[in-house]
Amino acid sequence: KEEEDTRPMKDWILVQNSELRLEVQNDNSVDIQLLFGVAEIFGTEMAKNMRYTISNQAKIAIFTDISCTIRILGSPDIAYVSTDTPMHIYRNTHFALEHLRRTAQQNDTFGPKVMVCGPTDVGKSTLCRLLSNYAVRSGHQPILVDIDVGQSDISIPGSIGVLPIERPAGIEENEFLKPGSLVYHYGHNNPASNLKFYDTLVSKTFEMYQERCKENPTNKYSGCIINTCGWIDGSGYKCLLHCAKVYEVDAVLVLDHERLCIDFQRDLPKTTSIIRLPKSGGTVVRGREFRKNHRNNVVREYFYGKKGSLSLFPFSFEVPFSEVSVYKIGAPEVPESCLPIGATAEDGNTQLVPVEINKDLVNRIVSLSMATSLEENVVSCSSAGFLCITAVNTDAETITVLSPAPSPLPRKFLLLSDIEFVDFK
Ligand code: ADP
Repeated sequence: KEEEDTRPMKDWILVQNSELRLEVQNDNSVDIQLLFGVAEIFGTEMAKNMRYTISNQAKIAIFTDISCTIRILGSPDIAYVSTDTPMHIYRNTHFALEHLRRTAQQNDTFGPKVMVCGPTDVGKSTLCRLLSNYAVRSGHQPILVDIDVGQSDISIPGSIGVLPIERPAGIEENEFLKPGSLVYHYGHNNPASNLKFYDTLVSKTFEMYQERCKENPTNKYSGCIINTCGWIDGSGYKCLLHCAKVYEVDAVLVLDHERLCIDFQRDLPKTTSIIRLPKSGGTVVRGREFRKNHRNNVVREYFYGKKGSLSLFPFSFEVPFSEVSVYKIGAPEVPESCLPIGATAEDGNTQLVPVEINKDLVNRIVSLSMATSLEENVVSCSSAGFLCITAVNTDAETITVLSPAPSPLPRKFLLLSDIEFVDFK
């Protein structure tokens, strides 16, 4: 209740086209409230007088294109106002996409397919979120494709997701496994771990995107927004090119990287617009350790909900070995000379390899494949959800899993990932 809140309170007055940047670290959290005017957080409008809790190491910007007053309850670790923001450039990008969407609708063609690229921590995910939010606010339903396997906005690390955006992102919550999202198991937090498989999955997302567009013309006219990994050199760049070519993207938005623009201009068809955008001064460099921590928090949130809110109650139960089959994707490399005639070493990278169930699987994340039989292409089947193996009892031949849904498991094929999670409760 407001009157009982003894935390420090401060009202910030923001002038036109400025943003209040806030960071909260570790266990800290603050409440924010829009008192007057109009404000948005990465494209999601704030409702007047509503209190939003900002926690979980969030780094946000409250932007106003008119003016506003924001009340903050609590002590943010960082809080400052900046009038130097590239928001008008991002908004103009949105208007250009809007124009293409309207033209697509008039001519019954595909809306703009846009890929957002750049090194790590330049605001790629933030820009994707902003453009998706603006698009839905303008009455469209673009499809967000997240191929950033390290920091996915759609699902947990190690997966690739496709999400039709039907409403603006929430200010407080994460967007996990929303109805309509399709998630694919990759199993590693970096494309380098299995490039062939990564490219295969990216191609798969395009198939699903096309399917979706066939079913729903609104998606077709709205286009897609692809969020990519920050690995832009060598093989990382090749993965980006592969994605751009598979999707035949209309535009590549490159944040803060001149060389990457030049490379794309050289390697992509002339019909693809390569647009360089400035990075926001508010973008926070998070560092390797932070990203690792963040990945862990994201997995925790998948099972338990937001820290402190206890919004989700996962289940823990035993499953007999006989009721599941564990596989990983990608066989160990075999020298070309040992392969059967006609086979190439790469074939192994997308192969389903049985995994023995033993104590090595403890604390590993597995995804539950939607496949019901091995005749289906398990490797590129979508995931029903994720489990964490918390114990393996080889005598009783059971595994204990942490699961978002109660027993029994709806499917039997488990795909092992590199992602570890220690369930401290
Ligand atoms: P990338 O996807 O390129 O790695 P992100 O979009 O995740 O980068 O941005 C990095 C961090 O910076 C995120 O925590 C994001 O919330 C924060 N951030 C981005 N833009 C701003 C801004 N204008 N003000 C404050 N924080 C921001």
